[in-house]
Amino acid sequence: MRKGVYLQTYGCQMNERDSEEVLGMLTAQGYEIAERPEAADVILLNTCSVRAHAEERAFGKMGELQQLKQTNPDLILGIIGCMAKLQREAIFKRLPQVDLIAGPAELYDLPYLLAEVQERKQRQIVARGSRLEALGKSDQPPASSLEPSAKVMAVGRAFRPLDQKPNGDWRRPGVTAFVTIMEGCDKACTYCIVPMTRGAEISRPTEEILDEIAGLAGLGYKEITLLGQNVNSYGKRFPDGSGYRGPLGRLRLLEENPEALLDFPALLRRIDGESSVERLRFTTSHPFDATPRLFEAMRDCGSVCEWLHLPVQSGSNRILRTMRRGYTCEAYLEKIERLRRLIPDISLSTDIIVGFPGETEEDFEQTISLMREVEYDNAFLFKYSPRPGTDAAAWVDDVPREVKEERNQILLTLQDEISLKRHQRLEGQTVEVLIEGPGKHDGQLFGRTRGNHGVILPACPEAAEAGREGPPSLIGETIQVKITKATAHTLFGERCNGSSH
Ligand code: SAM
Ligand code: SF4
Repeated sequence: MRKGVYLQTYGCQMNERDSEEVLGMLTAQGYEIAERPEAADVILLNTCSVRAHAEERAFGKMGELQQLKQTNPDLILGIIGCMAKLQREAIFKRLPQVDLIAGPAELYDLPYLLAEVQERKQRQIVARGSRLEALGKSDQPPASSLEPSAKVMAVGRAFRPLDQKPNGDWRRPGVTAFVTIMEGCDKACTYCIVPMTRGAEISRPTEEILDEIAGLAGLGYKEITLLGQNVNSYGKRFPDGSGYRGPLGRLRLLEENPEALLDFPALLRRIDGESSVERLRFTTSHPFDATPRLFEAMRDCGSVCEWLHLPVQSGSNRILRTMRRGYTCEAYLEKIERLRRLIPDISLSTDIIVGFPGETEEDFEQTISLMREVEYDNAFLFKYSPRPGTDAAAWVDDVPREVKEERNQILLTLQDEISLKRHQRLEGQTVEVLIEGPGKHDGQLFGRTRGNHGVILPACPEAAEAGREGPPSLIGETIQVKITKATAHTLFGERCNGSSH
């Protein structure tokens, strides 16, 4: 019988894509994907360390899963991803039943690491057998302090060897897919754990990316999101050692021979020119590296959607400096102005941290002003969470929890107000919507505009009566939709040209 693997993912889209790759590698080794942990021979949690809360959820979940070993002692439990790297000692202490720890840079080693755990377990069984034989007993407990441990920990690589990926890939079925274009992060934002957990930046060779996208388009995926911690520094270091050297190296090449510069805007142009993918998005863009060259490529490439996620983090220059973000609010706003001149209907989203050490009422007010000025379509708001080993963790976390909570609520309310206003602009307009799948309620369909706004199409009466989700033939189609109603979080619309959708 084939062995089953159950994998649960925490955290960002990069983790979601990593999990797909892990499932791909393991299914190529003969595993099958288990839908429930109880049905699995291997359980993996792919974890996130960006905030303490995400780590606690994974600790709690694995705490529960450990119980399964009582009925299935051969079960292998693994923690992989960022928390595996950061909390390696704490994991083996707090979760004694965990067998395997593998960091993000070791993900491609997983088939070998799992085989190693299995071999070690086998050796334990053999060693136990010989001991019992020697003792002439058959019913004694096997444990011995001399018994070799079956546990495996792999967290030592500086970065993921992108050119050494084992065979196999797996994708969540659907209309949209992620394609990782670079790994790791060379920035040093003082609050952020990612450079420590994911390691140094490394870019995937362009041809590989193009091949993957062509394959996905062939399978019927309509929208591709290119992923990286900072996609804008694509091209800095390739696995073969080529690439430009840092921001200055890029500038020099831009002046001397822009045609020869293989950076992110150049990648966008190649994908747009050479692939048949309908829609292209990317995330995340660090504002420091978001250049006019990028904005021009976005404008020129028909497949690139009119949407940019540009995390600002704070509206106070003082806080941006202590965060070590490398830009001021003025420079950030100038970039947005430039982008909006080139692409007037661009949708913008952002990340903001409230309660960073030293954030005063005045700093917070400046964040409010910046949000009002930019009018983001969407904002992801986070309460600062000190992360061990980061620069900021050594500073006093001096904004009380209640104040962080209050500031977070204020920004949530403000963003709802702004999102509603942005959405209301679309009321009465006809927009292009890619239908991604069924909506929450019977018969409804869900899709997205090019600006990344979610749109719900109402149940068509025949489908609702039949208890099914709209005409399934529309899933994967790009249709014209008239927006009939806007709320802060969703748009509602009706299909133009005749059909009941
Ligand atoms: N690379 C992206 C960038 O530079 O914008 C962000 C990646 S990070 C995983 C996603 C978001 O988590 C960040 O933009 C930031 O807002 C938030 N974040 C990171 N560290 C945090 C911390 N220690 N506490 C709270 N939020 C944090
Ligand atoms: Fe973290 Fe900054 Fe790197 Fe983003 S750019 S992953 S926030 S260190």
